[in-house]
Amino acid sequence: MKKQRRRCKHCKCLLESCPRVPKHDYCNKKECQKARKRDWQKKKMAENVVYCNDQKDAQKLWRENNPDYWKEYRENNPGYTKRNREKQRERNRSLRAKVCRKPDCQPIAKMDTAIAKMDAIGPETAAFSGRYRLIPLTGQMIAKMDALIVEISAISSG
Ligand SMILES: [Zn+2]
Repeated sequence: MKKQRRRCKHCKCLLESCPRVPKHDYCNKKECQKARKRDWQKKKMAENVVYCNDQKDAQKLWRENNPDYWKEYRENNPGYTKRNREKQRERNRSLRAKVCRKPDCQPIAKMDTAIAKMDAIGPETAAFSGRYRLIPLTGQMIAKMDALIVEISAISSG
């Protein structure tokens, strides 16, 4: 039988495959066989939505049956946990640096200006009656919770 020289699709090593098996594109290494399976699965998922959903269901089921998998994985791989924690810290940093752009979220500086303006008007005008937003502060950060709406009304006009 005539042999054909081909390369493994995954590791690119030369493989002697039989020309009569045209789909034999991977060598026998464990990781290459895994790659072959992944490739096959990907193809299968693309052409068959039902199969894809079955896979997703199977994965979900597996996660439900192995709830401690990631916990144990993290315990057995402290490096992974450390890296993750560092990434989280990085995310927190950038979150803190970001200015909230929600239209109903008052930055602290704007609040200060509003308070100063109110002082200028004076308490004798009932101008400060109305509804105000109370935004709880946690340290330097605006707490990530909805602002409380309070209503202030002047009881006596002096
Ligand atoms: Zn290979």
